[in-house]
Amino acid sequence: MTRIGVLALQGDVSEHILALQRSAPDLEVVAARRPGQIEECQALVIPGGESTTIRRQMDSSGITAELVAAARSGMPVLATCAGMVLICREIVGEVRFRPLGLMDIAVSRNAFGAQRESFEADLDFKGLDRPYRAVFIRAPLIVAAGPGVEVLARLDEGVVAARQKNLLALAFHPELTDDSRIHRIFLDMLED
Ligand code: GLN
Repeated sequence: MTRIGVLALQGDVSEHILALQRSAPDLEVVAARRPGQIEECQALVIPGGESTTIRRQMDSSGITAELVAAARSGMPVLATCAGMVLICREIVGEVRFRPLGLMDIAVSRNAFGAQRESFEADLDFKGLDRPYRAVFIRAPLIVAAGPGVEVLARLDEGVVAARQKNLLALAFHPELTDDSRIHRIFLDMLED
C-alpha cells in the first residue's frame, strides 16, 4: 500500500492528514516525526506552521539528513507555506536559520505584511480548468526561481505556486479547503 508521510513536528499536521485521507481513501497516511519513518514513505508533505520551529525540531529529532536524501532521490514532496520556506535555496533577509536548499527558489517570508496577514484569493492554477480558492496565512512569496522551476500560479505580488521535478511548493494552505484538486496533483506525482 502506498504510504504518505506528513512531517509532524509542528503546524498543520492533522489538517493535511485528513485532507489526504479525503483525497485518496486507499492511501496510508502517517505522521512522520522519528528517524526511519520518512524512508518508509513514498511521498512526503511538509506542512505550514512556523518554519523556524520546524527547522529546529527537524535537527533535534535527527531526521534532517533522511528528509533531504529522500527529496534528492526523487520522492514527491508537497511543501506548503512554512514548508516552502524550508525547502527553498534562499530566504531573503533571513539570518537566523538556513533553508534546506532543495528547490531552486528564493522566498520572502511573511511577504504580504501585517495588513494582509490572512486572506483568500482565486488562483488560475496551471493544469486546473477553473479557479482554485486559496487560503493564505502569513504567507511567503517566491521572489526568484531558477530555470528548472515551473511557475503554477501567481498573484499581483508574485509567484505563489511552483514545481521543480518532484517538489511542489505552495505559499497557501490546500489542507484548509474542501477542494482537493491540488492534493490530487501531488498524488499524481507518485506516478511520474
Ligand atoms: N510565516 C510562517 C513562516 O515563515 C509561515 C506561515 C504558515 O505556514 N502559515 O514560517
